[in-house]
Amino acid sequence: MAFVPLVALAGFAVVLERRFPWRAGLRLDGLHWLQSIVLMLLGNVVARLILPLSVFSAGIYAASHEIGLFNVIETPIWLVFPLSLLVLDLVDYMRHRLMHISETLWRAHRVHHSDEVIDASTALRFHPLEALITAASHVGMVLLAGIPPEAAVTFAFVALFFDVWEHANVHTPHFVRHLDLVLITPSMHRFHHGSEEVQMSKNFGVIFSVWDRVFGTFRSSTELHADTRFGLGGSSTLSFRTLRDLLFDPLRKG
Ligand SMILES: [Zn+2]
Ligand SMILES: [Zn+2]
Repeated sequence: MAFVPLVALAGFAVVLERRFPWRAGLRLDGLHWLQSIVLMLLGNVVARLILPLSVFSAGIYAASHEIGLFNVIETPIWLVFPLSLLVLDLVDYMRHRLMHISETLWRAHRVHHSDEVIDASTALRFHPLEALITAASHVGMVLLAGIPPEAAVTFAFVALFFDVWEHANVHTPHFVRHLDLVLITPSMHRFHHGSEEVQMSKNFGVIFSVWDRVFGTFRSSTELHADTRFGLGGSSTLSFRTLRDLLFDPLRKG
């Protein structure tokens, strides 16, 4: 189950946040963490109950039934592996961008953007509907492309690592900003969490920065200002304080 490595990674990030904070003076908010953990667990349960396949079993199914592009067109494994990571990351880019364009999907993604303090707990703070949509889009692409189960699981773990790395309030060495040539960096993703519309409409990628570059939504690590305000800003007057607020958010207008 994905929540075990996710919680382990988030716990490690909390230790780093205490020692090497990016934004100083943030306190550990127990209730906030509890809400995020409940959302994450519910997301896992909902996806497991509704989806018949995980990405791993979808990969096994595609291989044994010889369906999907890589099982139909003979492709060397050294090429299949990186291509699998790239196309699954493209699915995440498209899914994330759509969630900002469609009013209906935005209501499932809004919980994640409601955080005004970005830290490791934000990496867990997704509405269960968004978790379901994400899992379904991954399984769909694994079947469509015929992605091997090993590559699908590798992607899932790399994506978990980036999820925690991009949200944790951890100061990163100066050279890390140069990684935005190929990868999504914490500064790039923090820019996306800015409360201004112009910030939220940039940097949709999860692992590779290539999709933001190709589709014109790239903003470099250097464009994040230290005093950037996070959250929904003036775009919403809704409250996101209680678990009830968070769970029923897709049904709320505003
Ligand atoms: Zn977003
Ligand atoms: Zn985020």
